[in-house]
Amino acid sequence: MTEARGYCTLCKSRCGAIYTIESGAMVGVRPDPDHPTGTALCPKGRAAPELVHSPARLTRPLRRTTPRTDPDPKWREIGWEEAMTEISSRLAEFRDTTGPESVAFSVTSASGTPMSDALEWVERFVHLYGSPNISYSTEICNWHKDFAHAFTFGSAQPAPDFPHTDLTVMWGHNPAKTWLSRSVALAEARARGPASRSSTRAGRPPRCRPTTGCGCGRAPTAPSPSDWPTSCCAATAATRSS
Ligand code: SF4
Repeated sequence: MTEARGYCTLCKSRCGAIYTIESGAMVGVRPDPDHPTGTALCPKGRAAPELVHSPARLTRPLRRTTPRTDPDPKWREIGWEEAMTEISSRLAEFRDTTGPESVAFSVTSASGTPMSDALEWVERFVHLYGSPNISYSTEICNWHKDFAHAFTFGSAQPAPDFPHTDLTVMWGHNPAKTWLSRSVALAEARARGPASRSSTRAGRPPRCRPTTGCGCGRAPTAPSPSDWPTSCCAATAATRSS
């Protein structure tokens, strides 16, 4: 029995995991606490051995053998070489006859599928092929993050700086259900508590941060936040000289 470090590819959370291999088969998986996103695995990630070895899992290309409208569709397994040759020759045919603009590509959601790590390669391919037509599917919670933000502010929403934030507002977003590693980062930020000046209002001991003082991490002695940098640096200097 051996163990292999890796990460779950089933959504863009990419949770770090340790996989147990026995006789060439994956038999177990657990979170990898040493991985930046390895605090936890959701039920889908924990089901990895079941998914990988499911008899229902597609592992070979299939060719449809009945019309698309057939109520009882049939398929025949074909080899990768045959599938790739047929697909590439048909794409080349369309490009050379009706033009690359006549072909539309469709990409599944990177939020809930292993598409995360392949998305940029697909986009490069479509760009190289010359088609301007590519459509994406995405979850309702993802649409506003990437597109509503861009329409409103001119760019997609950047990654939150959870380690240094004092206040987080979740608006139509539940990372515990949709982005596990982000949920863990949020939980850690909540456990840490407010980090800078607003912490006074929350009743937590303030600390000198690079944004508010010299960044020594001490508790400033002055009661007023406006005096923190000075008093904190003074306290540090006094300690150094003693
Ligand atoms: S949230 Fe679940 S499905 Fe997504 S990467 Fe983590 S374990 Fe995998």
